[in-house]
Amino acid sequence: MAPSVAIVGAGFGGLCMAIRLERAGIRSYTVFEKAGDLGGTWRDNSYPGAGCDIPSHLYSYSFEKYSSWSRRYPEQPEILGYLDHCADKYHVRGKIRFRTEVRRAAFDGSAWRVTTAAEDGAERTERFDVVVMGVGQLNRPRMPDIPGMSDFEGVSFHSSRWNHEHDLTGRRVAVIGNGSSAAQFIPRVAERAGHLSVFQRTPNWVIPKPDATFGPLVRLAFHYVPGLQRAYREWIYRYAEGTLYPALAQGWSEGMLKQRALRHLRDQVPDPELRARLTPGYPPGCKRVVIDSSFYPALTRPDVSLVTDKIVRITPKGVETTEGSYEVDTIVYGTGFRSTEFLAPMEVIGRDGLSLEQRWKDGAEAYLGISLPAFPNLFMLYGPNTNLGHNSIIFMIECQVNHVMACLPYLAGHGPIEVRPEAMAAWRRQLDAAMARMVWGEGCRSWYKTADGRVTNNWPGPTTLYRRLTARPPRPAYRSAGAT
Ligand code: NAP
Repeated sequence: MAPSVAIVGAGFGGLCMAIRLERAGIRSYTVFEKAGDLGGTWRDNSYPGAGCDIPSHLYSYSFEKYSSWSRRYPEQPEILGYLDHCADKYHVRGKIRFRTEVRRAAFDGSAWRVTTAAEDGAERTERFDVVVMGVGQLNRPRMPDIPGMSDFEGVSFHSSRWNHEHDLTGRRVAVIGNGSSAAQFIPRVAERAGHLSVFQRTPNWVIPKPDATFGPLVRLAFHYVPGLQRAYREWIYRYAEGTLYPALAQGWSEGMLKQRALRHLRDQVPDPELRARLTPGYPPGCKRVVIDSSFYPALTRPDVSLVTDKIVRITPKGVETTEGSYEVDTIVYGTGFRSTEFLAPMEVIGRDGLSLEQRWKDGAEAYLGISLPAFPNLFMLYGPNTNLGHNSIIFMIECQVNHVMACLPYLAGHGPIEVRPEAMAAWRRQLDAAMARMVWGEGCRSWYKTADGRVTNNWPGPTTLYRRLTARPPRPAYRSAGAT
């Protein structure tokens, strides 16, 4: 009999899992989604200018090619449209239980007891053989801890909870943060605001985004020319893997990446004083490189100022820094996500009664970023150490789903399975050795690592290696739960 599967989250990960089960003829699954619609991060991040800096044809499932992309780099509405298209085409929408939040999952010796809460708070517990977590790494906004934030008398919100009711036209706006999200919305906000003050704590490396629209002829070609989409996708993938990955591994293209970013800065920012304030003092790639061609030009506008003084507090009227006060009507927090708190605030209890929170007190980890000893039949998509700074996360999600699909038949003969502690220990050693080469370790603060500097979010190898590792059969790394 097919196992029953609970999938948590209806974003790129959860939908991919559901589609693959559906295509394998396994219909005994339910997708739990706390929001009223699917799309995950692409539903939440609807800020002006939201889009993806990975090309459309690669930022999509390998099994669902799409000829309709209107541009080289997709914008948020189009990505959401793609996910809607996939959910309908593969008949998974009807299996999503919307407005249902998973609060707790506890292994009871043979299956998972999954406790959900409906919108009215009513709880319900159901049993599933398998749980697949598809909640991602960037789903919980991180509001900063700046004194006085609650005293602000104007309107404030986080970039992933954009207040579309609030018209920015003519207003004095403060943006706190300048990461990939802020770089995308700052140019749009600048167009409307009376004055925009961008509060930058640390400059980012920025490289151009060579965006372009696909005209009807190109789209027709993608649709009708056999193999064209596949070849184009493969070319983008190989380019990212062959040139960007070595830069992050401090290899041959590291200098090239830096030169490209410095040239972009020189080309777009003529003022040497502003350029100096925008030049990072750490190696490119240590933080996520921003890929954008409109961010710098926005900062050179006369109605935009870049503030690099330290923020001291938020006052009822605006932002106070070590050098002065800035009166504003609106504050937008582009301050990122609580990325190292994987799966929080869900309570997940393994077979020995230990919670994931306890298990991960020194930082999250998982075998292949997918599974853990003592948490039988629990799988994660986009889990610890599977984020990329150089290629499409959809590729990684598909590798993870392949791995889960390979594990499912193995359950039939073995009951609940879990990773052997030896496999986990070997994985940790392998990861640590690869991590030592990477640029993320020192010299910058980033969402890739915990407060004490452990990189819990990123995958340190080539994605080709990750594909090979996840394609291995579950044996010998897995065993029946509780066996020694
Ligand atoms: P982020 O990269 O974590 O950036 C947060 C920003 O807020 C940083 O500039 C940070 O400064 C600043 N900040 C945080 N706390 C602050 C404080 N107390 N005072 C002053 N400044 C503060 O977040 P994000 O821009 O939302 O991006 C997160 C990730 O989402 C990206 O790295 C990327 O992986 C993904 N994303 C992808 C795309 C895409 O096109 N593919 C687009 C958007 C987002 P410091 O640098 O000094 O910490």
